[in-house]
Amino acid sequence: MPELPDLEVFAENLTKYTAGKKIKKVEVFKDKPVLPLKPHEFITFAEGKIIKAVKRFGKQLLFTFDDGKTLLLHLMLHGELYYINEGEKIPDYSVAAFHLSDKKVLVFKDHTQWLKLRLHTEGEHVIDPISKAFTTVFFKTLLSQKAKTTLKEIMIDQENITGIGSAYADEICYNAKIRPQRLAGDLDDKEIKALYKAVVSTLTDAVKVIKKATKGNITGEYTEHFAVHGKKKGVCPLGHKTATLKIGGRGSVYCAKCQK
Ligand SMILES: [Zn+2]
Repeated sequence: MPELPDLEVFAENLTKYTAGKKIKKVEVFKDKPVLPLKPHEFITFAEGKIIKAVKRFGKQLLFTFDDGKTLLLHLMLHGELYYINEGEKIPDYSVAAFHLSDKKVLVFKDHTQWLKLRLHTEGEHVIDPISKAFTTVFFKTLLSQKAKTTLKEIMIDQENITGIGSAYADEICYNAKIRPQRLAGDLDDKEIKALYKAVVSTLTDAVKVIKKATKGNITGEYTEHFAVHGKKKGVCPLGHKTATLKIGGRGSVYCAKCQK
């Protein structure tokens, strides 16, 4: 599943590929991803629009158009994007395709059909962790409101902050040298600052690494740079054996030596 930093890179690459291009023809192969619209309504909405840019908010990609409208794409667990030449075979399990004015086709694929293509409605109250809205004041207030909740649960709760998944929550805690099972209310000021800094730096550093490593990619998830999450050897970068536990039902990894 692509995570926030992967999606940030996809948005940049998609903008490079599609900005200024017109959506000449839209095909909807599966009904579910475009709900609540019917396929013909979705086609009417998207056809003829010129893509201005592709942005990321949380784990969503936002296609903005020249007429001010926005289309929201959530890849969910298994969604994939392909940017192929007109006339090339559309991959199996594709749910929709945009035929663009430069003879390219942007294909949305998902064998589970969970991928979502939605018209954007206003009213986002949640905060993206690598936006200007994610301030120390916001973060400190959030932690004080959730004093009895574990750090991991606060970070992955999409109602608080949008876009941090289980993997990056573990990575953030490792970089902050704080264990993910700690309760928010137990952190001192220094630790709160360290955690805030780690949220921003872990995600923005990952964007840089992924950009360099994947060059123009718009699909998949890059995890080579992870320090502790999903590491087969089960050791932290300093060679200590890592521990695993479930927090809020999610598998979590930390190093008992590096993290307090
Ligand atoms: Zn360690």
